[in-house]
Amino acid sequence: MVKVAVIGGGVAGAAAAWRLTKRGAEVTLYDRFSPPHAQGSSHGESRIIRSAYFEGSFYVPLLNEVFPLWRELEQLSGEHILTMNGALMIGSATSGLVTRAAQAAREHGLAVDYLETEDFRRRYRGHLVRDGEVAVLDHQAGFLNPEAAVRAMLAQVPDVRRDTLVKSIAGVRSGVDAVVVAAGPWTPELVDWIPLRIERQVHGWFSIARDAEWFRPDNFPAFMRESPDSKFMYGIPSLDGKTLKLGRHHEGEITTPETIRRRVDERDLDPLRLLAATHLRGVSGHVERTLTCMYSNTPDDDFVIDFSPDDPRVVVISACSGHGFKFGPIIGDIAADMVLDGGTRRDIAHFSLDRFASASEVPDDHRGHHE
Ligand SMILES: Cc1cc2nc3c(=O)[nH]c(=O)nc-3n(C[C@H](O)[C@H](O)[C@H](O)COP(=O)(O)OP(=O)(O)OC[C@H]3O[C@@H](n4cnc5c(N)ncnc54)[C@H](O)[C@@H]3O)c2cc1C
Repeated sequence: MVKVAVIGGGVAGAAAAWRLTKRGAEVTLYDRFSPPHAQGSSHGESRIIRSAYFEGSFYVPLLNEVFPLWRELEQLSGEHILTMNGALMIGSATSGLVTRAAQAAREHGLAVDYLETEDFRRRYRGHLVRDGEVAVLDHQAGFLNPEAAVRAMLAQVPDVRRDTLVKSIAGVRSGVDAVVVAAGPWTPELVDWIPLRIERQVHGWFSIARDAEWFRPDNFPAFMRESPDSKFMYGIPSLDGKTLKLGRHHEGEITTPETIRRRVDERDLDPLRLLAATHLRGVSGHVERTLTCMYSNTPDDDFVIDFSPDDPRVVVISACSGHGFKFGPIIGDIAADMVLDGGTRRDIAHFSLDRFASASEVPDDHRGHHE
């Protein structure tokens, strides 16, 4: 039996451990905390999943494969993880978000509706729709429960070692056939050959001041909105009928897992309040609760899924850059392919380390954070 050590029990490591276990490997998963926990990147009640992928249409085949895997996990665990209620990509008709989402949908024959301004206004009362704003409604989309997902994956793995820090890959390498490194924002502590920049992110749950039904999942798909200055905000439908979760995509300070400012203050919330007041109807400036989280960004915001350049029995997954959660089960399956078959039939060319091979392509601020 192939023995594998998995470092990290966020969505990536938990998924790799689940898929490896399913395929007959003997897996030991280590996590420095007790997942699901709120110290890394895989927490906060909800994560958007969508298919008309503005980040690159090469992600779509992986997304098409991931929905059945999320359903498989629900069946195995009895947990409700995936709610399919669509997703809206909002912006001007020429914005990158709208045009690239529409292009990915066209290229892959995805089910989307293109909503002109009036139509968008009429259908989604919670949005304040300016003249010229349009939306792509992605039907193969919705949101996930991250804590339930991680819990469900870990429940499939017999040997999970919680509160166990792995100090180096060498520390777990002997005695196993392969190692999967899925340490999220801590990855630079274990490998120094992925140029990652760790970014602090904040979520706020804003009080709904009127017409709570506008924001319920049935009436209000998760959304991303690009403003004319190319900045992104997003929101997730109200799960409690009282609050709406809002965040800004990127725009956070560069940090490390050791030094991250966990306290959320007015500097964090004021930009979100302004966005809520500008773009949403009936959402107050009062914030019921908040959280901090970390993005692990590559220079081009695409994932890294590759073998270690030093050791072909070590696979590293950094599937974040702020958009990796939805891919969890397929990333885990790819890691299992790489460990058990030495490669994968899925197209992961965009995620290779080679693209950073030329040092000149790596900006200084991406050269790891632990110097
Ligand atoms: C605010 C926010 C919003 C997001 N929204 C979305 C979204 O809507 N849709 C989407 O698809 N994606 C979203 N993402 C991105 C997504 O959540 C991440 O890509 C994903 O959670 C990354 O998971 P991970 O397993 O790589 O990292 P993590 O969840 O951080 O897991 C890493 C794990 O490794 C453990 N670990 C680290 N070092 C060691 C060590 N040395 N020894 C043992 N254990 C170790 C840690 O304790 C941790 O549990 C969002 C991210 C954030 C922060």
